[in-house]
Amino acid sequence: MFVSDGLGVNESGHLTVGGCDTVSLAKKYGTPYICYDEDMIRKNCREFVKSMEEDYDGNGLVCYASKAFSCLEMCRICKEEKMGLDVVSGGEIFTAVKAGFPSERICFHGNNKTDDELTMALDNNVGRIVVDNVEELKRLSTLASKTGKVAKIMLRIKPGIDAHTHSFIRTGQIDSKFGFALETGEAMAAVKLAVETDSIDLCGLHCHIGSQIFDIAPFELAAKVMIDFISEIKETVGYEIRELNLGGGFGIKYLESDTPKPFSEYMKRVSVVVKEEAEKKNVKLPFILIEPGRSVVGAEGVTVYTVGAVKHIPNIRTYVSVDGGMTDNPRYILYQSDYDVMCANKANEPKTEKVTVAGKCCESGDLIQENAPIQKVEAGDLLAVLSTGAYNYSMASNYNRIPRPIVVMAKDGDSRVIIRRETYEDITRNDV
Ligand SMILES: *Cc1c(COP(=O)(O)O)cnc(C)c1O
Repeated sequence: MFVSDGLGVNESGHLTVGGCDTVSLAKKYGTPYICYDEDMIRKNCREFVKSMEEDYDGNGLVCYASKAFSCLEMCRICKEEKMGLDVVSGGEIFTAVKAGFPSERICFHGNNKTDDELTMALDNNVGRIVVDNVEELKRLSTLASKTGKVAKIMLRIKPGIDAHTHSFIRTGQIDSKFGFALETGEAMAAVKLAVETDSIDLCGLHCHIGSQIFDIAPFELAAKVMIDFISEIKETVGYEIRELNLGGGFGIKYLESDTPKPFSEYMKRVSVVVKEEAEKKNVKLPFILIEPGRSVVGAEGVTVYTVGAVKHIPNIRTYVSVDGGMTDNPRYILYQSDYDVMCANKANEPKTEKVTVAGKCCESGDLIQENAPIQKVEAGDLLAVLSTGAYNYSMASNYNRIPRPIVVMAKDGDSRVIIRRETYEDITRNDV
């Protein structure tokens, strides 16, 4: 009935997360808060890791894309679950290192890494740096030579697959700020350069075809395109690519009507393509990396707000204002993302109304959902927005000087704080 198996309704008719009553959590921590279900996060990690073991003989690494939700505790969980970690900035590297995450399992992405960030990656012996452009390759080579290190890199390739169209297409998808285009020869030129460049060890290729993708076929096509390119490299450059990073982007349930496939189905089907294509093209089976972000945490987080004003505008709509908004969840304003909302304290009542959930920011567009079915909602109710585990806290801001919410982790009916609520002092900390 819910977007995640970690959610439920207890005998008081309250929404539960990881066995915790969301109404009790509101009393304990205040609102807004974000609560994650630890067991569900770990279950997702394990399913990915298990499918890599069973369907690709363990010849790979599942890297959690920490941009979806990064904090010390998430890094610790990923470490315990034998995952790798994707990072895209110095801040995410810092978080991982501070959490004691093994740096050889870190993969560093980004289309414009600074010298400081590259140096940080080298100093911390980050396992793989995914190089985005020639300029970066040269800078990295210089920085690595200075310290006498060899940087292990992957090249980010645009495989030219647009997975977001209704029926996905193979296009000349050159118009992306990320990576090297295949069809223009840019990617092959980058490979040649990387192979010749000092202090650079080109271990692999990377691609990432998008996000919130339900269909497995685009991933299969991407795998095929990449193996074909590995074979072309072997033939024309005489260089053997050892690793293939197939990115993330696996879809999750935002609405009950969403129908993501089990992770194992993805790995099963993609590994068949990789094995068949590698055999056909006579290249060694690459070590495979995948980078799920949203699918690890997205459906396992819930945001709970307190309802303030309820404003009925006759024949137009009803605005339900909550004590958060675009500052903790900018995804509706950015992408008109769908969310399932409900009254956490009336979770067993039928959804008889349709409302617009508005945030508290001075911005008309600060909405969390429009036309959302919900129970009869009044001031003082608790409003839960489901599937807010990915790209919510990590995209949060202090617009209007609103402090970021508290984040708690629920497990077996107990909860603990994993990120403290920001205070007004935090907000002025760097003001001079
Ligand atoms: C964003 C991103 C991911 C994770 O995407 P999800 O949709 O959250 O799984 C993985 N790899 C790269 C390179 C990304 O940019």
